[in-house]
Amino acid sequence: MTRYDCLQALSKLYEYLDGELPPDDTEAVRHHMEVCQGCYPFLQFCSSFQDALHRAAHGQTDAPPALRSRIADLLQTEGAPPAH
Ligand SMILES: [Zn+2]
Repeated sequence: MTRYDCLQALSKLYEYLDGELPPDDTEAVRHHMEVCQGCYPFLQFCSSFQDALHRAAHGQTDAPPALRSRIADLLQTEGAPPAH
């Protein structure tokens, strides 16, 4: 079974939340989030953003990409993945 470390799991998080990952990768991310206490709160955080994005997408189709890149910036500056 594929195992991800924190960086791999976090780098796939958006695709995971979007349901765009192949089954093996989906399982690997899900498993990491179950066992890693450092990443799990991050998943919750991103998941609530994802909910907001999906809601926004219903009204403003041009808003989500901008929001996504803002969130990506946030993740790069503040979302230092927990070290193993
Ligand atoms: Zn982790």
